[in-house]
Formats: sequence, structure tokens, C-alpha cells
Amino acid sequence: MTIAGGTALRVTGAVKTVAIDVDSVLADVMLVWADEYSKRSGTRVTKKEIIRWDIPTVLPITPDQVYRYFSHVWKHRWREIPPTEPDIGDVTKRIHRKGYRISIITKRERPTAAYVAMWLDLHRIYADELLFVYDALPKIDYPFDVLIDDAPKNIVDIIAPKSAILFNQPWNRDFDWPVRVDSLSEAEKLL
Ligand SMILES: [Mg+2]
Repeated sequence: MTIAGGTALRVTGAVKTVAIDVDSVLADVMLVWADEYSKRSGTRVTKKEIIRWDIPTVLPITPDQVYRYFSHVWKHRWREIPPTEPDIGDVTKRIHRKGYRISIITKRERPTAAYVAMWLDLHRIYADELLFVYDALPKIDYPFDVLIDDAPKNIVDIIAPKSAILFNQPWNRDFDWPVRVDSLSEAEKLL
């Protein structure tokens, strides 16, 4: 495979970088988000009912509340957030041992960053770099070969030589993408 403009990469033996998203790819945060929403609204909502990316089109909630609950969950309930599969840290180590460089890229609000870092350590996630993105620079502009993400908007514009694996979640079922997985270990088998 040719890496366009990859002079530096060729010198180091063309190591490929896998970019892995945090929210809803490593951390099943929307399980806890739905619980937080349920407690505050006095209704019972589960993750599988969040069938669209734009939550205010599914639930009676404002965009600002969506983000406030999200930040609250990461700051105050981060220990409750389960990984998307058991022993997910071992999966990241297997990807590393296959010879990939692992770049964890997560767009988020600044106050949640420290808690995300603690969560990644708690679950022994292997990473060669950890990128907290605070602005609107699209993920596609970061250096990676393969992206694993649940957000259609992060994946839709990806073209060769980059590629993307869509991580199945209730809010991306209608998105037309050929490579989809239900778990990181399933993605690992494709690498
Ligand atoms: Mg995500």
C-alpha cells in the first residue's frame, strides 16, 4: 500500500496509525447518559432508544442540556461508565502488538478531559498518543490510516488512502457504510 506524502513514515518502516474514538467506541458512555437523563426527567430511557445522532429530535431535551448531562456524567459518574466490551484494554494491546500505532482522538469539552484520561488508565487502554480536540477541526485532518468511530459525520468524508470502520450504535444504523463492527475486538480482526 502506498502512503501519499509519507516520506517520514517510510523512513520508520511505514507504521500504520489506527485512530480510536473514546465516546461510544471505547467507553459506553451513553448507557450512563441515558440513566442520568432518566433520573432527571422521571422517565425511563435506555441507550437503544437513542436512534438518531441529534438527541433533541428523539427526546424532549435542548442541545445545551445534552452537553451538560454529558459533561456531568464524565465529571461525576466516570467510574460507572463501562467499556464497550470486557477487557477492552487487552484488545488495544493486541492492536499494538500487530504493529499499529494507536492514536486516541476525542473531541470534547475541556473540563471532561482529565476524567477521560483517568478512565483510559483505569481500563488499561494502550495508546501511543492521546488527542483531546477542543475546536471544530474535523477528525479527517488528523494523521491516521484507519479510523474507528461511531459518528457518521467523522466518517462520511474519509477517502483512500485513509479508511474507516463504523462502530455500530443505535444512532448510526441508517448510515450507509460498508465496514461496520459491533466491538473493538471485531475491528481488531479486520486490521
Ligand atoms: Mg464517539
